[in-house]
Amino acid sequence: MPLPPVHTLDLHFQDVPGTIASYLLPHPSGAVLVECGPGSTFDVLTRCLAKYDLTPEDVTDVLVTHIHLDHAGAAGHLARHGATVHVHHVGAPHLADPTKLLNSAERIYGDAMDRLWGTTHPVPADQIHELHDGDVIEIGPLSFTALDTPGHAYHHMTYLLDGICFTGDVGGVRMQGTGHVMLPLPPPEIHLGLWRESLTTLRQADIDRFAPTHFGLFADVDWHLEALERALDRTEQWTASTMEDPPPEVLFKTHVSAWQRDLARADGVDAATWNRYETANPPWMAAAGLKRYWKKHGADAATT
Ligand SMILES: [Zn+2]
Repeated sequence: MPLPPVHTLDLHFQDVPGTIASYLLPHPSGAVLVECGPGSTFDVLTRCLAKYDLTPEDVTDVLVTHIHLDHAGAAGHLARHGATVHVHHVGAPHLADPTKLLNSAERIYGDAMDRLWGTTHPVPADQIHELHDGDVIEIGPLSFTALDTPGHAYHHMTYLLDGICFTGDVGGVRMQGTGHVMLPLPPPEIHLGLWRESLTTLRQADIDRFAPTHFGLFADVDWHLEALERALDRTEQWTASTMEDPPPEVLFKTHVSAWQRDLARADGVDAATWNRYETANPPWMAAAGLKRYWKKHGADAATT
């Protein structure tokens, strides 16, 4: 089956190319975006659309895999131009009222909030379509299936469209031209056990191309799934052994970052490419994510 026309829009997040994608799918009465990036790159997104003779008014629908600001921060901007936003039902209330989401992000990013994420507008409730596992979204000739895929966040959907699998963050982070899959591990909802279940869901799906938000299309689906499983194995093992005798609090972030950098280097990632990984998925965030995960689920994780 021919692949549907999907264009990868590079949002040049923090002026670094190839870090956050929005996927554009034109249809006879407008266009669909899968992911829309943060508010801070809405101008870039608008310029990308212009290259296809489109404006934000032409975007009829936005499918977001989850509500983290790097994936869905600009959803309210597009809603102001008339788009319907499709989102996991658990995430939906936080698009309608992003107060809690922004407070939580502020605890992680502090003074860098505005520089990183720009303005986040609410999405009017009547422009939100809440999704459940297996829901089918028909937009003109395009037919997306939503798969509930927790692990990175509880409110995470993966979208399937004729063999293309838009994996958001649950498929990992992988930069173009590399063979390194890195797990995005921010607080507060990562759960490695659920992530494994989502990996099984992905394995059972009929996939020709992976399209992680970070970044771009990949055709080596089986290899990618194996690499994702390896990343889960390594994270589980490293976390269990590190948490048994954790390094001092002040060294923990450095410790986590060095571990992630070493994994990337072992897979042949050079310094310039590592900068793209770090921009899309700061390794220090994993320190807070893993610490919280271990506190909440460590006992279960250690026995499984
Ligand atoms: Zn995320």
